[in-house]
Amino acid sequence: MIFLSPPYMSGKELEYIKKVFESNYIAPVGEFLDKFEKNICDYTKSKYAVAVSSGTSAIHLALRVLGVREGDYVLCSTFTFIGSVSPVLYQNAIPVFIDSNYKTWNLDPDLLELAINELHKKEIYPKALILTHIYGQPAEIDKILEICNKFNIYLIEDAAESLGATFNNKHTGTFGIAGVYSFNGNKIITTSGGGMLISNEKWVVEKARFYATQAKEDTLWYEHREVGYNYRLSNVLAGIGVAQLEMIEEKIEKRRKIFNLYKELLKDLNVEFMPELENARGNRWLTTLTFNDLDINPFEVVKRMQNIGIETRPLWKPMHLQPVFKNFIFYSNGVSQDIFNRGICLPSGHELTEDDLIFITNKLKSIIDGLNKKA
Ligand SMILES: *Cc1c(COP(=O)(O)O)cnc(C)c1O
Repeated sequence: MIFLSPPYMSGKELEYIKKVFESNYIAPVGEFLDKFEKNICDYTKSKYAVAVSSGTSAIHLALRVLGVREGDYVLCSTFTFIGSVSPVLYQNAIPVFIDSNYKTWNLDPDLLELAINELHKKEIYPKALILTHIYGQPAEIDKILEICNKFNIYLIEDAAESLGATFNNKHTGTFGIAGVYSFNGNKIITTSGGGMLISNEKWVVEKARFYATQAKEDTLWYEHREVGYNYRLSNVLAGIGVAQLEMIEEKIEKRRKIFNLYKELLKDLNVEFMPELENARGNRWLTTLTFNDLDINPFEVVKRMQNIGIETRPLWKPMHLQPVFKNFIFYSNGVSQDIFNRGICLPSGHELTEDDLIFITNKLKSIIDGLNKKA
């Protein structure tokens, strides 16, 4: 079986875990947690970071810290994974979904501005925007940040998939007041499960750390004036994270190489690869494409690839099309739905060789041929 994006260990992980065991800090405190947070700051050039149990919990903490509460409106990229949005509901706030553009597959800044103006007419003043850089490719963050500043909206960057991706040489996750990374098993680096909240504002990260630690006051005894969460990352997993982060650039280079090779090998197919902005460097976490030929059903392609042991996947199904969000407002231009209806993700793991990619693309081509004949 060829998997979509399996974990890849450098070899240092076990060494660091061993150190954690020797120190006996098998806890949500310890040397490797401090190191992991510091190294993420150094790498992304952000000032503060707190390691937590998942990307989803990091987004939840960001909302809580920024004061998003019951009845508040939160703008969200619709073309994303649900972990990006469920924290809005944890806070009993109200998501408003905004569609993508073809230029980035990410949130459309023009539609964002239109949506905010429409909402203002209804006396709805969104408090925050959760912006996803999907598949590790930066959104038009300069324009989006400008709009957020203009309308006094907190920008939270869901950079769960885009660690290491840059826009004008600045890391995704560092543009807004808060940025979030995920270290889930299939992400570009992994701690098996984990996440990080970063900010250049000290109070944001300090408050997040406080809520992530059961909102325990700084007293000798356990004093609580508010309700928090148990969201901290374990020192054991931070050991894995430190080792993984050491090879992030190597991983990005490899994923970008995989993307370029796919592009070359599939140049005769009538497909469109996910674009990249000129002043951006995506991490190409997953290579994704859409079929231009409407006779090609991507879901059928995924099924047939699965049958021969190759894991591909449909693109993220937009949130505004999810039954669980059917009662919420969305501003749609049809783009994310169209991309979803025509696209797939290709295996993009670190260990794939050129031969693997030739094998995968040959199989893909013959499946497409089969579907074309049927049509
Ligand atoms: C993975 C992911 C998350 C959630 O991260 P977890 O660590 O799995 O909780 C959020 N948003 C996006 C876009 C993701 O891909």
